[in-house]
Amino acid sequence: MISPGFTGSLLDRADDARHDEAMVRAMRSDPEALLLEMSGLHPVGAEHGALGWTPLRYTEVRTELALLGRLDGTPRFVALERGVSAFRRSPELFAAITAMSAEDAGTYATARSLVDWHSRHGFCANCGAETMVFRAGWGRSCPACGTDHFPRVDPVVIMLAQHGEGADAKVLVGRQPAFPPGRYSALAGFLEPGESIEEAVARELREEAGVTVHSVRYLASQPWPFPSQLMIACVGMTDDDALTIDYTELEEARWVSRDGIRAALAGEADAPFLPPPAYAIAHTLLSRWAAEG
Ligand SMILES: [Zn+2]
Repeated sequence: MISPGFTGSLLDRADDARHDEAMVRAMRSDPEALLLEMSGLHPVGAEHGALGWTPLRYTEVRTELALLGRLDGTPRFVALERGVSAFRRSPELFAAITAMSAEDAGTYATARSLVDWHSRHGFCANCGAETMVFRAGWGRSCPACGTDHFPRVDPVVIMLAQHGEGADAKVLVGRQPAFPPGRYSALAGFLEPGESIEEAVARELREEAGVTVHSVRYLASQPWPFPSQLMIACVGMTDDDALTIDYTELEEARWVSRDGIRAALAGEADAPFLPPPAYAIAHTLLSRWAAEG
């Protein structure tokens, strides 16, 4: 079974070291310590198939560093550059992500989300004072009011509504205006405060497509480092396939059979739509649902 994108990093996150400043200093001065090569938020050299690492001892470090962890027995760091949150995703970035191994993509996702979070959290959300890096880069602390801030992860539900069972089963896919021509994907939305995963799935499907679901079940999850979401993939059952599409969210939505989903994932010429890319959890979700029948 194909693993969700951005999962499978071999990093040992070294939580033991984060709380031990002497250990972090020793890891920094380890002659084997490596620094992830990033330009802004772009993984330098990754288009050749692997993340680039440079010996920390040969690098002039002008910024704070975050300890990513240990990999192949060596300490790994990333520089916390300021001002990178304005960095935009590009076709080159997604080509690089597609070219690199699943393990490297997972490590990159961790580094990217962490660097981006620091870039956007230089000031305390509680009192407005400038914050300081602590816990080896896994938090920021406010010297003025004492509040600690930690890298946040925002949960997003991404889901298929299923109508019918067995050979009659079909699922709902939709397209946003910004998608490439022909692309359809699972519907998705952020969880709101006070909601369970099941409630968010039901609300999003009701809002975007007018579909009422029950029996929501979880299938898989993945980190999505743009900037730092947790994608939670689910399937919910519906007894009514009538659609009321919210055209401010979606350009179109349609029901597709298991054979249609399989044809799309296989890239067949007469498939009903173009699938989402392999590193997106929607691809995993569609693949796993297609394999169930
Ligand atoms: Zn403060």
